[in-house]
Amino acid sequence: MERGALAGGSAAAEVAGPAPTAALAEEERESCAGLWELPVERCERRPECGRCGRPQKVCLCPFLPVHPLKVSTCLYIIQHPAEESRVLRTVPLLVACLPPDKCKVLIGRRFSEDRYPELAAVCRNPSTLILYPGAEATNLEEIALMPSSPSVMIIIDGTWSQAKDIFYKNSLFRLPKQVQLKTNISSQYVIRTQPTNTCLSTLECAAVALTIMEKNKSIQETILRPLQALCSFQLQHGAQIHHSKEHLLKNGLYDKPMPKNKRKLRRMELLVNNVKI
Ligand SMILES: [Zn+2]
Repeated sequence: MERGALAGGSAAAEVAGPAPTAALAEEERESCAGLWELPVERCERRPECGRCGRPQKVCLCPFLPVHPLKVSTCLYIIQHPAEESRVLRTVPLLVACLPPDKCKVLIGRRFSEDRYPELAAVCRNPSTLILYPGAEATNLEEIALMPSSPSVMIIIDGTWSQAKDIFYKNSLFRLPKQVQLKTNISSQYVIRTQPTNTCLSTLECAAVALTIMEKNKSIQETILRPLQALCSFQLQHGAQIHHSKEHLLKNGLYDKPMPKNKRKLRRMELLVNNVKI
C-alpha cells in the first residue's frame, strides 16, 4: 500500500498542469519539500528483509526455523494477484519455512495448459490434491491414512471469492482430488477478518495440511510461530482484533447494514445458525 501511494505521488508530479510562474513554483517547491522527501526517507528507513519480506524493523526471521523444514510433500500456492500486494501477507513466511523445491508460488488468475505445462502435469498426476472445501471434497485425514500418501498439494491463496473464481474458471484445478480440512482450530490470524471462526489463512491451511500429510505435529507449531509473532506485534502496535463475521453476528456486534441481496442475507443466516457453507 505504501508503494502504491508513493507511485501515485510521483505520477501526480509528472502530470502537473501548465508551468506555474517562478514565484509560485518557488512557493510550491517549499510547501512540497517535506512531501517529496518523505517517500525517499521512508524507503530508506524501511528496507525489507530479503527472507521474510517484512520491513527490517519488524523482521520475523527470529521466529522462522533455522533450517527449512524437511518435508516430502510439495506445495503449489496459486496466488491471486491482489494477494501479492497486501501489506500483511502470509505466503512469504510459508516460503521461508520450506525448502525452495517444496513450495512453489504461482501468481495469476488464469492457468492454461499451454502457458503452464509444468502445473498441468502436476494437476494430471494422480498423487496431487487440491485444497478446496465443498460437498465433493474428501477430508484430508482420510486420504492421509491410505498406504500411498499423496505427494503434492495445491492451495489457492486469496479471499473466498477470488479463490472460488480461480477454482471454477480453471479446468486444470478440477483434475486433482479435491480435499478439505476438518479442523476445529480457530484462526490465529486475528488481524484480518475471516468470514467464519474456522476460516484459516493460507499459512494456517498449509501448516495443518502438511502436519496431516507428513504425520508430524511439530510442523504446524513451527510454521505458525511467525504468524503468532506477527499478530502479537501488530496488536501491540495498535492493530484491532478483527473478529469473524460469524462472531460479530452471533454476539449482536455486527454494525454494518444487513445486505439487501437475498442470497447474501441467507448466507449470513446460515453463518449464525452454524451451517457449513
Ligand atoms: Zn526477516
